[in-house]
Amino acid sequence: MFQAGLPHSSSQPRVAIIGAGIIGLSLAFELAFRRGTWVTLYDTRRCGRGASWAAAGMIAPAFEAAAETGVHPRLFDLCLESARLWPAFSADIERVSGLPSGFEPAPALAVAMDAAEAAHLAAISKVLTARGVAHRALGAREVAGLEPALSGEVLGGLELETDTRVDNRRTVTALLAALAANPRVSFVSGPAPLKARGGRVVLEGQDVVVAAAGWETTVIKVEEQGGFHSLVTWDTALDAIDCHAGQMLSVAAGEGAPQRVLRAGHVYLVPRDGQVVIGATMETGRVIDTPEAEVIEALRAEGVKLCPALAGAPVTERWAGVRPGTPDHAPFIGETAAPGLYVAAGHYRNGILLAPVTAQIIADQILGQAAGALAAAFTPRRACSATA
Ligand SMILES: Cc1cc2nc3c(=O)[nH]c(=O)nc-3n(C[C@H](O)[C@H](O)[C@H](O)COP(=O)(O)OP(=O)(O)OC[C@H]3O[C@@H](n4cnc5c(N)ncnc54)[C@H](O)[C@@H]3O)c2cc1C
Repeated sequence: MFQAGLPHSSSQPRVAIIGAGIIGLSLAFELAFRRGTWVTLYDTRRCGRGASWAAAGMIAPAFEAAAETGVHPRLFDLCLESARLWPAFSADIERVSGLPSGFEPAPALAVAMDAAEAAHLAAISKVLTARGVAHRALGAREVAGLEPALSGEVLGGLELETDTRVDNRRTVTALLAALAANPRVSFVSGPAPLKARGGRVVLEGQDVVVAAAGWETTVIKVEEQGGFHSLVTWDTALDAIDCHAGQMLSVAAGEGAPQRVLRAGHVYLVPRDGQVVIGATMETGRVIDTPEAEVIEALRAEGVKLCPALAGAPVTERWAGVRPGTPDHAPFIGETAAPGLYVAAGHYRNGILLAPVTAQIIADQILGQAAGALAAAFTPRRACSATA
């Protein structure tokens, strides 16, 4: 645990993190508070206001990864491991910052409104049963008993004990507060002045560089002989990081609003701070920061179909964000082909969920501690094919 006022020790590397979203902030937290390392965070915009602010905050290993086809074969393991780390991670953030982390360990409810959704829930249940992961299959009546807000058209559901939620905006706010008060951590507003030197990407005064700029990781600039190139020049694997826009809204949580995370197909409802978040679109290849009125209205209508009590609820906010993806929908975590340059990006729909495990893996690798076989499976140098 961190002790204030310690001078920099030459046995500890100085780490530069490019991007202060939940991934960069969680890594800085892990390094500065849990490992006693000196960290500098660079961000070209307002820290924590990228995808990590836009997210719904579902911690959903079972729904997102148990029965997804064509994804990285160990994505579910990574998601389960990170979900397991969340309670201690959130407790540490709260203790250090004195602020709520927003973590809520209440189980999510996934429901089916048609045969295809019922088949998907059955596939999830089969995997969870085979893996011994706690969950409960429910008939229509049991679902209605647990969550009366739901539509009468619900056919049945699954209560997922592994799938919880966090108010990601609170987490980001608490992480920023904790890091700002730590003398080992510096924030720099603007791009990191990276330079190419002898096949390496270097940053003056730093020993290690971690690229954690979400969907913009590929376009981080490096200066070479007066010109600028993107990071991809030093590791072509990074070129696989792509973008998936998402639009969402929230409505006021009046009488009859859902009390827990509800999922049906691609639609979800997340109670948060007196509101209900309704999400979300998946718009592959798009970068948008302004929500579109007709898209938001269509999403609102889908939310109301799932939960009719939301019909007259006033809209409180509309927004859009961009998820960073990879072809196998799993993050790149680890050292790149350029020695000393690490990447932690491409977390797709699961960056909030995967923040604690990503931070642990990168910190272990930077500090020369055994990170294990699961960690190694997410190297950016893996064969990563587009099958999903
Ligand atoms: C609508 C939506 C809903 C989502 N819901 C969930 C959910 O329920 N659960 C879940 O787990 N995940 C969810 N996600 C995914 C999750 O939000 C992302 O995977 C995660 O936030 C990625 O975090 P990040 O830190 O990599 O990126 P970001 O939060 O985008 O942070 C990247 C940072 O890098 C900075 N940056 C960019 N370029 C540079 C540069 N050149 N130099 C310095 N800084 C730079 C940016 O300004 C930004 O602050 C959702 C995403 C969206 C869009």
